[in-house]
Amino acid sequence: MALLGGLEPYTSQAIQCPSSYNSGVELLPLSLLVVFALLLGSLIGSFLNVVIYRLPAGISVVWPRSRCPHCGHVLSPLELVPIVSWVVQGGRCKNCKRPIPLRYPAVEGLTAVLFGVAALLRPVFPELVFIWAFIALLIALAFIDIDTKTLPNSLNYGGIFLGLLGAGFLGFPQNFQAAVDGGLMGAGLVALFAGYGGWLYNRFKDGPREGPFGVHQVHLAAMVGALGGMLGTVGGTWLGGLGIVVGLLNASLNARTGKVFALHDSLTLGLGALAPIVAWLLGLSPLESLRGMLVSAGGMALAGMLYWWLRNPSDKVEPAPAEENLEGYVSVMGYGDVVLAGFLGVWLGFSSLMVAVFIAVFAGAIIGSILRRFGGDNQIPFGPYLAIGGLVAFFYGKAIVQWYLGYIGLA
Ligand SMILES: [Zn+2]
Repeated sequence: MALLGGLEPYTSQAIQCPSSYNSGVELLPLSLLVVFALLLGSLIGSFLNVVIYRLPAGISVVWPRSRCPHCGHVLSPLELVPIVSWVVQGGRCKNCKRPIPLRYPAVEGLTAVLFGVAALLRPVFPELVFIWAFIALLIALAFIDIDTKTLPNSLNYGGIFLGLLGAGFLGFPQNFQAAVDGGLMGAGLVALFAGYGGWLYNRFKDGPREGPFGVHQVHLAAMVGALGGMLGTVGGTWLGGLGIVVGLLNASLNARTGKVFALHDSLTLGLGALAPIVAWLLGLSPLESLRGMLVSAGGMALAGMLYWWLRNPSDKVEPAPAEENLEGYVSVMGYGDVVLAGFLGVWLGFSSLMVAVFIAVFAGAIIGSILRRFGGDNQIPFGPYLAIGGLVAFFYGKAIVQWYLGYIGLA
């Protein structure tokens, strides 16, 4: 416990969702549980190495058996012991003696340590199994993003599905309503970050048109959601969600006609930004306007990415066609990050998600500038930083929000 700065499991308010842990079952003494978590984590880490390599390559993650990438030598069970095999073999293939990257045992060690920390912080079943799955998904997503600058939909939507499942049946990690809200608003926050970022960066130029379902439909949904949200609930219907309906109508019109009908980004994003201000001037609720904007944009972004994923259900990364960026429009952030933010929002809730994004932006600025100084990649993906922010905020988000509200004198 001392290692974790005096954090007490069970009693600490830093641990989320204290309302549900009473329902959990304690199976093992804590020390044994942590040893088990370390062993399980190293094994899962070994599997994650396979997922990280094979998913973007379009190869099955369960078959064929693992081979040396240099000589094709099929690895025996003795060569597959996490961390230990790498150390015993001196970091080299047994057959061809060529080096095996340090990253393999590092991913195994990282997964083991995080599984162990999770067991210390929340030694309760079945919640701990969900947390282990959360950790495993984030590690796979982060490393695949580093390698390929993409975030596989199967892992992102898998995380959303698992979070909603836990919320629906266990009330963990959130109650269901908070999970849905967090997911929609989380995706909306990053979709609008990408939308406004691109709009400003490209000096109010219209984004690339993509039919039937592209960023224009997300921006349309944001505008309608912002305008509807300011009116609040009318006749039992919350008008902030109206953006999703209008966005879907736009997309289905495009699909029906084979053309791309889309309003200019300057109209949708401009009016969307004005809506909360107008709401405030009219004595309506600017916060509800913002919430409608986030929910509608997020719902539309998640629906859109789901549509494209179902159209092409592979996670294989194809080389981008050369003619893709003819218009010279620079995207500030990919929609993989938007879906990842939706996944994190389902697990964290919206307030902790904002903590995660804040940590991600800071970590990205600091680590990114260090990497650039040492001649690293210029285009560093945001996914790994979101994963770091998500993990920290999962355990400490509520505590950080409370500390911050106290700090500015609101709590
Ligand atoms: Zn070899």
